Amino acid sequence: MAASTDETWAEDGWLHLRLHLAGSGLTWADLGWMEPRRPAWNTVAVLMADATPTADRTLDSAPGSDSDSRPGSAPDIWRESARDLPVIGRPDVLVVGAGSAGVTAALASARRGADTWLIEKLSHVGGLAGFGLINLLLTLDDGEGEQVVAGICQEFVDRLDSQGAAQHPQRGDWGSTDPRQIEQWRKWGLIWGAPPEAVRYSVAFEPESFINVAYDLLESAGVRLRLHTGCAATSSVDGRIDTVIVESKAGREAIQPSVIIDTTGDGDVFTHAGADAEAVTVYPYQWFRMGGVGDLGIDDNSDVGKTYFRTTNAGRVLVPWGGPGFAASRVNPLDPDDLTRAEIECRRAVMAEVARIQQHAPGFSESWLDDISKQMGITESRRLVGDYVLQKDDENRAFGDSIARTGHWTKRGVVYDIPYRCLTNPVVDNLLTAGRCISTSRFVHQATKEIPAAMATGEASGAAAVAALDRGGQVRDVDVAALRRDLAASGAMVAGDDHLKT
Ligand SMILES: Cc1cc2nc3c(=O)[nH]c(=O)nc-3n(C[C@H](O)[C@H](O)[C@H](O)COP(=O)(O)OP(=O)(O)OC[C@H]3O[C@@H](n4cnc5c(N)ncnc54)[C@H](O)[C@@H]3O)c2cc1C
Repeated sequence: MAASTDETWAEDGWLHLRLHLAGSGLTWADLGWMEPRRPAWNTVAVLMADATPTADRTLDSAPGSDSDSRPGSAPDIWRESARDLPVIGRPDVLVVGAGSAGVTAALASARRGADTWLIEKLSHVGGLAGFGLINLLLTLDDGEGEQVVAGICQEFVDRLDSQGAAQHPQRGDWGSTDPRQIEQWRKWGLIWGAPPEAVRYSVAFEPESFINVAYDLLESAGVRLRLHTGCAATSSVDGRIDTVIVESKAGREAIQPSVIIDTTGDGDVFTHAGADAEAVTVYPYQWFRMGGVGDLGIDDNSDVGKTYFRTTNAGRVLVPWGGPGFAASRVNPLDPDDLTRAEIECRRAVMAEVARIQQHAPGFSESWLDDISKQMGITESRRLVGDYVLQKDDENRAFGDSIARTGHWTKRGVVYDIPYRCLTNPVVDNLLTAGRCISTSRFVHQATKEIPAAMATGEASGAAAVAALDRGGQVRDVDVAALRRDLAASGAMVAGDDHLKT
């Protein structure tokens, strides 16, 4: 049997190797290693008896397709009748999705004087960084001691610091290879990647405080926030979205913004509007927190920093459960039936893990389950195919239209400058994208999806949306040099001279 290597990429502590196995019916495999929680699993291979690449399988398993054999699935069509919807507003800028990217996008827009609306389908802001319990900012540096993300992300860290709701190494320690310091920060979940390891500028934070900071800043910036409201559809005329249709307890309503920013994580808006995307299936995660934890024995070789992390609250730990080897199977994040299956499966597995920890882990005999993440841990679903797709080869490369930067949480000395063109697309004139669904390859997504990077592209998109208002909402006509100056003047890091190839 002939095998050829197609692609490798890292996904949350695992290195994946995609193989094409010619003539076997097994077309690719995931080979997991680097798993810090169970080193013994290092050579587990997951063979996928599936003849289509991941992205194609997403489409094959769509409800109503031939391969969909679920009972009750109905391929029939029912034509919805036309009806009049109330137009509830015509804001300058509408941000859809209030995760870390959406909150920063809305702040950057409103602070520049634009009438800014932010809608969110759930009952709270923050997304994965909030009650998704992904409460680690990885990372704000380049792995060698230099900060590469600042701006509104740094403002959050400063606010969290002032409330005692963040823990992170101090500036003088960034890049340190002192083993004692590395072990100290590993226990907070802040050390990742292959040796040689170093202390990073990464931050462990308390999610309730992160959400409170977001509400305070949104309110003081004058953002009009609407929770419990999802984007259901868009209507376009001549390559421009003229109406966004939202759905809530109030029914279906229309919003007619000048510029829209898609920060849904899943690219819901750009998909409705017809922009191209790549989509994948992933192993789900369901992080959870345990309270009432006793002495963890954190000075020895305990599981702190491997199976679970310290948090800013005494007696509480964060358990990063999920992924390959833990979750039973991949999930299609764009299929609500598959998501429902995964939610229930993961919850049951989490409960079993809680019981196991309570019985066997030192310090947990009196502990209880504090909370399970309220947003399933989906690392990736759709990625925009924008005006530029950031590639692995672009690491440490200077771009004239760079509007944000990010380091890499598992690699030192790797910085991606993110071109403005990763936020724009050739199909929709008045739409920007920010956060985990911007236009990158799957490999680079590992860096750009992280919370500091999502906040950096969010901030850039908010500033760009305001700049586009003077150009009839045409986001591709923005003067990018002026945008870069504007962002830099407000404290964001758009590009530096260090590390840059060209
Ligand atoms: C298991 C896991 C571990 C990770 N580990 C880390 C880590 O340690 N450190 C780190 O920095 N990053 C980590 N990441 C990545 C990071 O958490 C996310 O990529 C980042 O938070 C994405 O932010 P976002 O705002 O782009 O998307 P999200 O946080 O997903 O926010 C999107 C928001 O849009 C809303 N929304 C979606 N669709 C609609 C709609 N149609 N209408 C209205 N609202 C909508 C959602 O409800 C959500 O609030 C991890 C991710 C996962 C899943």
